[in-house]
Amino acid sequence: MYDATIIGSGPAGANAALEAHDLGLKVLIVDEQRDAGGQIWRVKSKSILSAPSTEASIKGDALRERLKQSSIEVKFETRVWHIDKNEEKNWIINLVSKDGSHSVLSKALIIATGAQERVIPVQGWTLPGVVGLAGATALFKEHMMVPGKSTVVAGSGPLVFFVASEVIRLGGSVAAVVSINGFSDWIKALPAMVLNPKLLWQGIKWIGDLYLKRVPLYWRHGIRSFEGLGHVVGVNVRKANKKWYLRHDPNIFIAADSVCYGHGLMPSIEASRLAGAVHTYEPALGGWVPFTDENGRTTVPYLYVCGDNAGILGAQAAPHRGRLAAYAMVEDLNETLPEDLLAKRKAEKKLLKWASIFGKAATGLSILQPGAGGLISKQTEVCRCEGINRLEIEKEVKTGALSPNAVKSGTRCGMGPCGGRFCSESMALITEQATGKTRAEIGLPTARPPLRPVAMDEIAKDLNYDDLPIPGVSPL
Ligand SMILES: Cc1cc2nc3c(=O)[nH]c(=O)nc-3n(C[C@H](O)[C@H](O)[C@H](O)COP(=O)(O)OP(=O)(O)OC[C@H]3O[C@@H](n4cnc5c(N)ncnc54)[C@H](O)[C@@H]3O)c2cc1C
Repeated sequence: MYDATIIGSGPAGANAALEAHDLGLKVLIVDEQRDAGGQIWRVKSKSILSAPSTEASIKGDALRERLKQSSIEVKFETRVWHIDKNEEKNWIINLVSKDGSHSVLSKALIIATGAQERVIPVQGWTLPGVVGLAGATALFKEHMMVPGKSTVVAGSGPLVFFVASEVIRLGGSVAAVVSINGFSDWIKALPAMVLNPKLLWQGIKWIGDLYLKRVPLYWRHGIRSFEGLGHVVGVNVRKANKKWYLRHDPNIFIAADSVCYGHGLMPSIEASRLAGAVHTYEPALGGWVPFTDENGRTTVPYLYVCGDNAGILGAQAAPHRGRLAAYAMVEDLNETLPEDLLAKRKAEKKLLKWASIFGKAATGLSILQPGAGGLISKQTEVCRCEGINRLEIEKEVKTGALSPNAVKSGTRCGMGPCGGRFCSESMALITEQATGKTRAEIGLPTARPPLRPVAMDEIAKDLNYDDLPIPGVSPL
């Protein structure tokens, strides 16, 4: 039995684990990646270990070293696929790794599963050569690879410019940058971003470099369609307005053999939903988030959340949120918090407040505007696991399926291997447009395991079909 299990070893989860361990708890940290660092400080693959260090790799290496020096138990390349409670109200955390599945028991649980990217489906988005913006950063950090010879980078928020600058740094060529944000959106975000001059300067440098390299920059434009047969060969782009509606102008075609495309990040809430926490819809924080107090306590006893899964505030805020969740957990387990930790907590809250101002301004650039749903044309495949397009979802809504559960059972949208992680956002966008209801009114589909794909024989293990009770004949 562990005092605390932490799911996710990014900046939030790893700092929560280190703090809880320093305060004397028996801690387990689980992550599906090969090592700690999460998305931002992702560990390099073995083939690029000798590559020059970057700020992210230096910070990641330092974090990994601290974890190695501690006696925190770690389980990497291990996925959490189910979360439950036993009769004594301890958490049962079901894990699957290459060695099979097993479960661990824990008094408290911190969920630090980070974010996932939001990609609004547009005609042709499933063509090979089209990758998510955030997914592309994983390609750069882990393998130092670029997605193609000539890349269009498109979407919203700061990742657009980071990805474009990385493609160039790693030797690729950027055919164009297509930002649905206008330059004026960035100017509006400036006052908040000034609070973090280092990151602001980095952003200015990314954009400045693109101008210097004469990369065509389409401000306030959106992708109408991805073109190609068997592989992407380019994109059709149109001017948009502030609300993300594309104008009825002629298409501008930009040739490219790869496209990095995305619209910001959404909190990864599957685990906190499965654990029973109440969630609310907060567009300023990236979408649905667990309802918490200022320390990351959820509505479920001994369940805490920290990092981007508790609302997209970015990597600067994540370590502070991790430590605050650790303090809350120690306070609940020990029924008190020593005087010196009260002072530390106060200091962490202050630092978090500053980091959050920058984080919210960056997230604000990807708040979905009313035209977002309109980017998905009738024939666009929305659920790529089950091959369901917009028209099929609309038909289902029009015949009375108003909740995500009803649309799901009527169409199979969200029933594939991804468990709806990618398509439920688009399904909600379409329902929103078709019914005029708000996201909060539409709600979420029921949370169900598995959080990650798991083989049936791993779950069934010792099950003998002959042991199943056969119900008797029911009385007439
Ligand atoms: C793909 C991607 C790329 C990003 N790239 C950048 C970037 O380049 N620059 C930037 O500023 N921000 C980037 N972000 C945002 C960045 O992730 C966060 O701001 C920061 O890493 C948040 O830290 P965190 O600890 O909250 O989450 P993360 O760093 O995301 O860590 C969460 C961890 O939880 C693990 N996890 C999740 N679910 C499970 C499960 N069921 N079982 C086991 N482990 C699980 C993940 O493997 C991950 O290591 C990216 C986000 C994504 C989704």
